[in-house]
Amino acid sequence: APVIVWFRDDLRLCDNPALTAAAQSGRKIRCVFVYDEESDGLRPLGAAAKWWLHGALENLDKDLRQRGTRLSIYRGRASELIPRLATLCRAAIVYWNDRYGEAERRVDSAVQLLLEQRRIDALTFNGSLLYDPAAIKTKSGEPFRTFSAFWRAVYQAGDPAQPQAAPVALQDFGDWGDNSPRAVELSELCLEPRGPDWSGGLRSNWKPGETGAQMQLKQFLDNHFDTYAECRDFPDRQTTSHLSPYLRFGNISPRQIWHAAESKNSESDVKSYRNLEKFQSELGWREFSYYLLYHNPTLAARNLQSKFDRMPWREDPISLRAWQIGKTGYPLVDAGMRQLWTTGWMHNRVRMVVASFLVKHLLIDWRQGEAWFWDTLVDADQANNAASWQWVAGSGADAAPYFRIFNPTLQGEKFDCGGHYAKAWLPELSGLPPQDVHRPWQASSGVEGYPTRIVDHDFARRRALDAFEALG
Ligand code: FAD
Repeated sequence: APVIVWFRDDLRLCDNPALTAAAQSGRKIRCVFVYDEESDGLRPLGAAAKWWLHGALENLDKDLRQRGTRLSIYRGRASELIPRLATLCRAAIVYWNDRYGEAERRVDSAVQLLLEQRRIDALTFNGSLLYDPAAIKTKSGEPFRTFSAFWRAVYQAGDPAQPQAAPVALQDFGDWGDNSPRAVELSELCLEPRGPDWSGGLRSNWKPGETGAQMQLKQFLDNHFDTYAECRDFPDRQTTSHLSPYLRFGNISPRQIWHAAESKNSESDVKSYRNLEKFQSELGWREFSYYLLYHNPTLAARNLQSKFDRMPWREDPISLRAWQIGKTGYPLVDAGMRQLWTTGWMHNRVRMVVASFLVKHLLIDWRQGEAWFWDTLVDADQANNAASWQWVAGSGADAAPYFRIFNPTLQGEKFDCGGHYAKAWLPELSGLPPQDVHRPWQASSGVEGYPTRIVDHDFARRRALDAFEALG
């Protein structure tokens, strides 16, 4: 009997425990992906993530063909399709790697149950996290609430396992037979933009898939790892790894990244250790976000701290639009939002500043920002995005205190002091000297075509603090 590998957020061959186990079974294999927009509670992908998924699936199929098999793509409810396919081909086992969102877990449990009823085994693995969130608890058995305590506990659990190599050859199972559900062509999923093709900036910045991920990792380790701790906060320096979309779709595993960074580290060198520690702790924040999602399934919808339910958020579609299109009049905010629109990615420091601006300066509900990021980020991730927005808003676990309100002008002057980042995304400011870039309203030469500030910083800061204080 053959086996099925059900691919989901793990679109790679290396260090893919489900695929490795299937290959080791010595049986014929069929690799399946289900594009499921029908199961209850699964959040539809945003436009930029769909674009990425298209490229990642295309590359996975190519890579599988080189090993002797291929990817069959279906559209519909996974809880119907997977058991049906497994029954039709009389599969012995279906393999997959775990997911951590509640709706995803519900689908997976339903599939597992139906397979069991048909006496088909389901073997599941942890392929996308360093540590299983269900296994990490405080001494009293409760989930951790702060990152530092969580990360200390995780560290004590020891280094994550070494990554596994890709299977050398996979023996294809052949056709499913006449009664099988119809596999679709990738193009039928319509994941790429139709009508206006807005994806030029994405295409020129990214190479979705496993090969792209490995190139990105090597590029980062060779050129930027050595200055990571020192330079990671400066948006014009390209010093962070840019691995987030690859991690989101599982084009690379966190274990691969963890161990590649370890091997780059020179043990006797304190500076090198600092880079390693800082970089690994960022991977740790990703783990913590998934941990929060696992223990708080409504992370993207509800404040973790319920007192924020009383926050008097403003409905202000005009300001929201100005924020989305990068026309707030604050250069760091506008540069970030235009970088996001063009490339599907934004630097972490700038994400914090633009998010703070929306939530605190404009007093707009963080969920509206989360939704915009969800649609426009190539790395839009249900754990990282929601946890980070709640962190910035102050409503999350271990969040930034609400009263710490970024001043976007000072943030710009501190982290983009030459104005290179702002100028790269705001051609209107190209003629300004460095000292005026983050204060275009002070430029003696004037600035044509750049908006005036949509809100005054001091006024907005006071308004946000008053609103917060009223929560008690
Ligand atoms: P690096 O600095 O190279 O870090 C390596 C990896 O660690 C990243 O790829 C990412 O997986 C993880 N990581 C780094 N910083 C964080 C962080 N603060 N929280 C969680 N994980 C982190 N990240 C996403 O992957 N998807 C999102 O949808 C997302 N939305 C965000 C929304 C807001 C408002 C904010 C403030 C942050 C958000 N982040 C999100 C976190 C962070 O900004 C990105 O992970 C990071 O900028 C990706 O760039 P990089 O791969 O070069 O990071």
